[in-house]
Amino acid sequence: MTIAAAYGPDKLGLSFELFPPKTDKGEQTLLEHVERLMAFRPSYVTCTYGAGGSTQSKTLEIVSRVRRDFGVAVATHLTCVGATADELRGYLGEAQAAGVQNVVALRGDPPQGAERFEQTAGGFAYANELVAMIRSDFPDLGVAVAGYPEVHQEAPSREADLENLKRKVDAGADAVITQLFYDNQDFFRFRDDCQRLGVDVPIVPGLLPITNTAQIKRITSLCGARLPADLVAKLEAAGDDDQAQFEAGVEIATAQTVELIEQGVPGIHYYVLNKSEAASRVLQSVNLPG
Ligand code: FAD
Repeated sequence: MTIAAAYGPDKLGLSFELFPPKTDKGEQTLLEHVERLMAFRPSYVTCTYGAGGSTQSKTLEIVSRVRRDFGVAVATHLTCVGATADELRGYLGEAQAAGVQNVVALRGDPPQGAERFEQTAGGFAYANELVAMIRSDFPDLGVAVAGYPEVHQEAPSREADLENLKRKVDAGADAVITQLFYDNQDFFRFRDDCQRLGVDVPIVPGLLPITNTAQIKRITSLCGARLPADLVAKLEAAGDDDQAQFEAGVEIATAQTVELIEQGVPGIHYYVLNKSEAASRVLQSVNLPG
């Protein structure tokens, strides 16, 4: 299934995002968690793409394995970091030969230690250029791009960021998957803005169910997402009790999911962090359309 076919009337396109595990044991555990998540019949499963060579081949290995073992459609994330256009074409050719149907096309973050993203000679400066290349050279691949309800950290303004998103969609993206957020109002405002600008592909909210208070404070500070005060209070009320933090996180993600479905989102993308427990608890307690 391509990303374009994942969304439609009367169905909710579910997707789960994994990251490449570092060890064989991590990979085995990951596959066990993916097997549990298959109960929710996702439209596709994605795997992130890192800056180093070995994690990049791991991304391809994971998506190929998930596709083969579970018969589910997959998407490889792909970034422009440190690669020429020809190297990106090489990766995409390999991915397509391995049966990968979709790409989440990204510019990527600056590599560790670097302050800003540097375009590689012969490479791309922005994600819209990667999308255009995929559309012209790999027309059968589905393409999703990243959207930022709370505005990308480097964007000079909200409007400039939205115009950039429009450029990515005009270059041929089939859907937008958002950065994680914890206030649905941010998502609704973003969706309205996209509509106003004529971004007419599915805008899919990305949710990361919180499982640990310290971890989510770290993640949100890195990606610039806001943790609303009432939510922080709920998490802090759980104190140092790991299980209570997990339960609070499930409650928050369930409430977000219910409201998003009520408000007609085309799908939800869960950042599952290679685990199944939290997403499963959330999805078991909501009525999934379709
Ligand atoms: P772009 O869309 O290229 O935008 C980058 C910045 O440049 C923005 O501030 C934008 O407003 C600005 N901009 C864009 N075009 C122009 C232009 N023509 N002129 C001036 N300014 C412009 N990172 C990884 O390393 N690996 C992953 O697997 C990964 N997966 C992700 C999945 C999702 C769903 C999301 C939301 C993010 C993911 N990221 C990943 C993070 C992403 O790489 C970073 O947020 C990165 O900093 C921006 O990538 P982008 O594709 O949004 O960039």
